[in-house]
Amino acid sequence: MQNVLILSPHTDDAELGAGGTISRLIEEGKNLFWVVFSTAEESLPEHMAPDTLKMEFIEVINHFNIKQSNFKIFDFKVRYLHLKRQEILEELIKIRKDFKPDLVIGPSLKDHHQDHQVIAQEAVRAFKNSASIIGYEIPWNHITFDTQLFIKLDKRHLDRKHEILQKYQSQIKLNRTYFSKDYSYGLATVRGTQCNSQYAEAFEVIRWQF
Ligand SMILES: [Zn+2]
Repeated sequence: MQNVLILSPHTDDAELGAGGTISRLIEEGKNLFWVVFSTAEESLPEHMAPDTLKMEFIEVINHFNIKQSNFKIFDFKVRYLHLKRQEILEELIKIRKDFKPDLVIGPSLKDHHQDHQVIAQEAVRAFKNSASIIGYEIPWNHITFDTQLFIKLDKRHLDRKHEILQKYQSQIKLNRTYFSKDYSYGLATVRGTQCNSQYAEAFEVIRWQF
């Protein structure tokens, strides 16, 4: 497994669901391509610049030293991704042809956020014959979640996750509790306990091939 595609409906989703795993994959020298579909301009309070979340994501990209050619930011309108299904599918197919991912990390099929559902479903359509697909855990969006894959992490991966989450000052100011250290380390401790590791992140296995 060398080419890993990261799918983020909005700028912070992959960091929250798979930030420790992304840190580990980068450390292991995997070739990443990271796609964000909406910078959620309409979700920000009026006093914040519309490109705030986009700039915060760029800070994450810079923190990891990810090259310009290894990420892409789309500007689809937040909460309306369902109106752009076909366009999104076509973009994913283009990425399949150009980047040829072995592994796709995106939202879970059990995520109930309307935009997350679109990306999870279109990812299945685009990669159902060509790549392994796993869904990350965003507990406040799920009623149930299948913890089928555990990716073991060390403290340094969690520390890195915490550092990148700190880039989202706009969300921290809005008191989103899942940006706290307690949340990241707490959930990773629970998932680690399930696989004899200090820390871990859990994933739903949507499709697996190797
Ligand atoms: Zn989201």
